[in-house]
Amino acid sequence: MHRVFFHCLLLFVLAATPAAATLILNGAQPITERVTVQVITTAATNGTDAAPAFGNATQQSAIFGGINAIWAQAGIDVQFKFRLANWNNDFALLGNITPRSQDDLDTIVTNASNAGLLDPNPLVINLFLVRIVPGFSQTSDNTSNGLAFVDDNGITLWAGPNLVSFANGRDVIASVLAHEIGHNLNLDHITATENLMQSSGGGERLNASQIALARASAFSVPIPEPRTLTLLLVVLTSAAASRSVARSPQIFRKSAIPARPMR
Ligand SMILES: [Zn+2]
Repeated sequence: MHRVFFHCLLLFVLAATPAAATLILNGAQPITERVTVQVITTAATNGTDAAPAFGNATQQSAIFGGINAIWAQAGIDVQFKFRLANWNNDFALLGNITPRSQDDLDTIVTNASNAGLLDPNPLVINLFLVRIVPGFSQTSDNTSNGLAFVDDNGITLWAGPNLVSFANGRDVIASVLAHEIGHNLNLDHITATENLMQSSGGGERLNASQIALARASAFSVPIPEPRTLTLLLVVLTSAAASRSVARSPQIFRKSAIPARPMR
């Protein structure tokens, strides 16, 4: 299969950068579509040296929140799931030569497929956390960079471990990963200022044609109309209320979360 790919968005941030959030966004739209990403962490073949991920639970949630703020501009929710075991594979983690060939992305995805590691749902994007991204040499712990297919399934990402400890750094990872997801969703690079798909960063905005293109991607799956869900929730809520008066208020409130806006 011939696939187009771009290496993207080598960002550098000093750890001393102030902690203010840096995402540059247009307004959010009602969420009506969902993209699901499976995270596969690679490590050395002997099991050591796993690629850094997204920090602790709080840091990870801030990074995923940033990615969702970015894609909310297109009405797209991004959900992450994790393959629990690392993929112990020197080639996936580091490659053979420096800088790595961009073709390594294709090899990584093919090898992962042969090893049965890709998500069984072909509409779930596979994200490989690595130490050296195909097309690059190793970059510092203060950087994040990635390589992704355009209009096809597969992303490799380096998330420099120093970045997770401060807000600007977490935004850098969010921006780079949101950019790579954009490539899988069929977006190419453009030069517009402050746009997510600039090749070297500078903003996270999406324009109307990018939004239409991304939402038309097979990886962007419509979220079912909420009418049935609302009814179900109402039934469940009243059933829970009548059955169990001892249930805690918090649990009760959770089951009463309003349905998402209709398309
Ligand atoms: Zn790119």
